[in-house]
Amino acid sequence: MGSRKNPNKYDTLPCFECGAKCCRYVAVEIDTPKTKKEYDDIRWYLLHENIYIFIDHDNCWHIEFRTRCRSLADDHRCIEYETRPQICRDHGWPIGTCEFFASPYKVRFKTPEEYERYMDRKKIDWRYKRRPKTAKE
Ligand code: SF4
Ligand code: SF4
Repeated sequence: MGSRKNPNKYDTLPCFECGAKCCRYVAVEIDTPKTKKEYDDIRWYLLHENIYIFIDHDNCWHIEFRTRCRSLADDHRCIEYETRPQICRDHGWPIGTCEFFASPYKVRFKTPEEYERYMDRKKIDWRYKRRPKTAKE
């Protein structure tokens, strides 16, 4: 984990100081991969631009779409503030739980290569056997 900021120094969320980190992505929890297909599906996700995968500090896996919210103004304000989704209202409370204070990532993969090296280090049998070419191919 990276350096942890002290939440006791704040009595409200430091969103302007932060630069709206949480308004620049969508992350969705996914099942922990266990089968060859599931390992391979994650390689497929990572082949796409602006898609990352991370494991959090509770060992839960997530797919992360790096995409800026349409309601984020250039000065880091939310133009939907009064009607923003509940997930936005809840994020960061209690103070100290959002990514301004500490990285949510235990492990994060930005490329298929990073993920493949991780699986090799863990001795995971993720590679499909290549199908032999037929005479027609
Ligand atoms: S990550 Fe935390 S401090 Fe930063 S904008 Fe979101 S809620 Fe505010
Ligand atoms: S709706 Fe507002 S608070 Fe929620 S992600 Fe978008 S800019 Fe951020």
